[in-house]
Amino acid sequence: MAGVFDKMRWRGFPIGVTSAFGTSELLLGEFGGGEPGMLITAGLHGDEGPWGGWAIRKMLERVEADDVHGFIRVVPMTNPLAMQVDKRNAPVDQLDMNRVFPGNARGSYSERAAHVLATEGLQGIDYVIDLHGGGSWCVNDFVFEMEGGRELSLAFPASFIVKREADADSLAGYAKSLGRTVAAVELGGRSQFEGAGADKIADGLLRALCKVGIVDERKAPPPIDPPLAVSGTDVLRPGSGGIFVPVLDASHIGTLVPKGTLLGRMLHPATFAVIEEFRAPFEQTALLLLRPFVAQLEAGAMTYVISQPV
Ligand SMILES: [Zn+2]
Repeated sequence: MAGVFDKMRWRGFPIGVTSAFGTSELLLGEFGGGEPGMLITAGLHGDEGPWGGWAIRKMLERVEADDVHGFIRVVPMTNPLAMQVDKRNAPVDQLDMNRVFPGNARGSYSERAAHVLATEGLQGIDYVIDLHGGGSWCVNDFVFEMEGGRELSLAFPASFIVKREADADSLAGYAKSLGRTVAAVELGGRSQFEGAGADKIADGLLRALCKVGIVDERKAPPPIDPPLAVSGTDVLRPGSGGIFVPVLDASHIGTLVPKGTLLGRMLHPATFAVIEEFRAPFEQTALLLLRPFVAQLEAGAMTYVISQPV
C-alpha cells in the first residue's frame, strides 16, 4: 500500500533564479481539503539534506485516503538550490531562506521561494511543522517548543525539548504572527541510524496529524514519553581550524553525559597533533547536536549543541 503518497496533487511554482540559470521549481504536494490544514516543510536549509523530505514520504505512505479528514500540504524540498550544493544557503544569493519571511515576489531566489511559502504555502493552513535538524554533517535529537505549539512539539519522539520563540522572519515566526500553531523539529541526519531517524520523524508527523484531527486517531502511533526539558542551547566551536575527530558517535545523540566527558578532538590540519578537546561542560550535559564523522572544520564552526536539564 502506498497510502496517500501516490494520491498527492503536486503544484509547481517557478522561482526566478538568475538570467543564466533560468528558473527553479518549488513543488507543493496536497491531499484532502477543508479544515483543519497542516503545512509540513523540510529542507529550508540545504545542508539539512533530504532526510526530512524522506520522512514526509514515509509518513504519507502510512496514511490512507479514508483516514484523512482535513488538508495536508507538504514541501519536501524547500530549498533545492542550496541542497544541490549541500550548503545552508543557496549560492545564487547566499540568503538564509529561513530569515527572509514573508519573502518578496520580486526579490532574489530565496526571497521568492519564501514568498511562495508565505502565500500559497500558508493558504488554508492552521498548523505548521518545519523540519530542520540533522543533515549531511550532523545528527540532532530535539524539538523547539514555541508559544501555543507545545502539543504539536510533544508529538515527536525527541529526547529533548527547548522553549524558544521563533524568529519573526523565519517561516515559523511569520506563520505564528498570522495566528498559526507552529513547531520546529531538529531530528535525525546522516549516520548509520539515518533510516531510524527518518522513521522517528515520520512517527512524529503522523502523531501530530492525528492530534489535530486531520488523520483518524486509529492511525496514531503508540503514545510516547515526553522529551526532557532543557534550558536553551549552547554551541561548542573550535578556536582554530583543523581536522575534527569525534570520540562519541551518533549513538550518543539525545543522551546526557557527565561533566568532563571527552566528546571529540581537533587535530592540527598538517601535523595531526591534538590542538583542542571538546569536553562536556555541565554536570549533566545534554547532547542536542553532534558531528558523527571526521571533518575539516574552520574556526568557529558549529560542532556541538548542548544544554542541561531545566
Ligand atoms: Zn535549519
